[in-house]
Amino acid sequence: MLTPSELLTPRRPTRQISVGKVKVGGDAPISVQSMTTTKTADVEGTLEQIYRLAAAGADIVRCTCNEEEAAAGLAHIVPRSPVPIVADVHFHQEMAYAALEAGVHGLRLNPGNLRKPEEIKGIAAEAKDRGVPIRIGVNAGSLHPEIAKRHGGATPEALIESAELELAYFREVGFEDVKISVKASSVPLMVAAYRLASERFDFPLHLGVTEAGPPPAGLIKGTAGIGALLTEGIGDTIRYSLTADPVEEARAGRQLLEALGLRERQGLDLIACPSCGRAEVDVIGIAAAAQAALEALSLPIQVAVMGCVVNGPGEAKHADIGIAGGRNKGHLFIKGQIVRVVPEADMVEALVEEAQKLVAEGVEARLAAADASAEEEARRDREELLEIKGSDANHASEKVDAIHERLIREREGR
Ligand code: SF4
Repeated sequence: MLTPSELLTPRRPTRQISVGKVKVGGDAPISVQSMTTTKTADVEGTLEQIYRLAAAGADIVRCTCNEEEAAAGLAHIVPRSPVPIVADVHFHQEMAYAALEAGVHGLRLNPGNLRKPEEIKGIAAEAKDRGVPIRIGVNAGSLHPEIAKRHGGATPEALIESAELELAYFREVGFEDVKISVKASSVPLMVAAYRLASERFDFPLHLGVTEAGPPPAGLIKGTAGIGALLTEGIGDTIRYSLTADPVEEARAGRQLLEALGLRERQGLDLIACPSCGRAEVDVIGIAAAAQAALEALSLPIQVAVMGCVVNGPGEAKHADIGIAGGRNKGHLFIKGQIVRVVPEADMVEALVEEAQKLVAEGVEARLAAADASAEEEARRDREELLEIKGSDANHASEKVDAIHERLIREREGR
């Protein structure tokens, strides 16, 4: 029997780029993206949303970088994010440099908003040096006015010309670590533009219908445009743009890919933190062991494996259940609330046991059965860890200083 992907038009070959640990293009799975709606300066709020997005199926998350405080937020967010972070830069070149200083895994530039060739080339040159890819994010609603005039409006050709112009600047500095989007809020326009883009470029394409609006109409528009292109073998990474909680975007993206047979269905949702300077345990090893044990049980829940009890339970408080490391112990939590503390060697076993009970008895019952001293023990461990490693285990303040100095230089250099 033919597989779903064999029944669709074969995927158009593209180059492959790496956005952090996620490969985009080539034979990499089509990835799902979403964008945070928090202020990027709000580190804890943004991280919490990023974890929710990752649990809902987002492979890459974009955050706006529109001011120095946002860039400083990124310096704290990037080392603690479970998925690669792309910074969205609109009007100011210095925000691109600040985001690069913060350590982001990718940039998105809008050619309609950032127009000076020397500025574009400068950013591309630095992205090249740092090995950071850039998305050329053309948008019909903010097309370069001269290009729009030449084409009599935002036509498919106009969108492609805008991308080609940006690409030409990038090539002048030898930079081609690129993916391209040619989005529009009109579904027929974006479909036609992406078809043209797939003929003109062999760079990975990021698909999306912009400003699609609230569900259900926004979901239908996104599915009509993105789905049509995917069935034609066009598209390497996708984003729904909904006027809604971005978790709905991530979920819709994942469900569309699953419906088309382009990604495998998720039973267990296991999320793990990236294991930053705060990590107290071998997150990768524990996550792998937990995944193997839990997948065998086919439990339909979200499970989080987190490196430290300082931030883990808060970052992953939307997971059904999770475990965080700290002081040679594992802190088991349900919906962010610590319910048990176990020796580090028993973390996986305890997690699996509690996950089975959670599925059998429900959240309320398992919260009611929580060990009364667990929260207090976790609080003590958190305090001790903060004392040992300080409040800046990831040395983010060094990056924030670098961002500040860089912005002063960029502003004085004008
Ligand atoms: S070690 Fe702690 S702070 Fe670092 S990413 Fe994991 S949970 Fe977050």
